[in-house]
Amino acid sequence: AAVGVGAAGVVDAALGHVLVASDSFTDWAGFPVTAALSAALGVPAFLDNDVNAFVRGEIACGAAAGEEDVLGMTLGTGVGGALWTGGALRTGAHGAAGEIGHIPGFGDLPCTCGGRGHLETLASARSLRARYGERTGRELSAREVAEAARDGDADAHAVYAAAGAGVARAIVMTAGLVDIGTVVIGGGVSNAWTLLEPLIQGPLAAEPPISGHPVKLLRAALGADAVPLGAAARARHELTARRARPGAAP
Ligand SMILES: [Zn+2]
Repeated sequence: AAVGVGAAGVVDAALGHVLVASDSFTDWAGFPVTAALSAALGVPAFLDNDVNAFVRGEIACGAAAGEEDVLGMTLGTGVGGALWTGGALRTGAHGAAGEIGHIPGFGDLPCTCGGRGHLETLASARSLRARYGERTGRELSAREVAEAARDGDADAHAVYAAAGAGVARAIVMTAGLVDIGTVVIGGGVSNAWTLLEPLIQGPLAAEPPISGHPVKLLRAALGADAVPLGAAARARHELTARRARPGAAP
């Protein structure tokens, strides 16, 4: 009946094309995703940024099911963010609402986006690996750094503690701006949840939101299925809304 897409890059969800893409994706910026899919498949198509689709999925049928005000974060190769407020996705003026991974104030290290001091320089898998390498001269994957931290390696623990403190700061900033009740965290780095969760909860408790209400911290439940399930939820939502509109085409 319809197709939903969760795609990398900053997208124009209304027009259905990609606005900004990293150089890992050749000719992706400007590509008319929904027009191409609708023409090929003969059904309506709807486009979301992949992290926006992730949060839609976790709210539709995952860890944050039914929540009204949610910050979604993916700690993967990079750090992605998505904002869900008042029961709907907030895309913002330029499709980039919720991009918490690329706001300065988290140190002074250069970020993959060209900025400095962004959360991504502390909390992405690539950054965990790099920060550990700087301290020790050893090359481990983010997962191996997590294992080392659990085995008592102080440098590995410090690297994860800095990531957890950064994530906590991002949560409290978002809570102060839009009063989210829930955060759902996915991406490969979240596989080290038993290590990471207390390293986020500690700084959050020390620096709680101004509302006086603690933010509920959840690990994503759907794994790699969150993006396709969220994209499908968007398509279903749009079709339902069209049918409900009087005089709308069937
Ligand atoms: Zn950045």
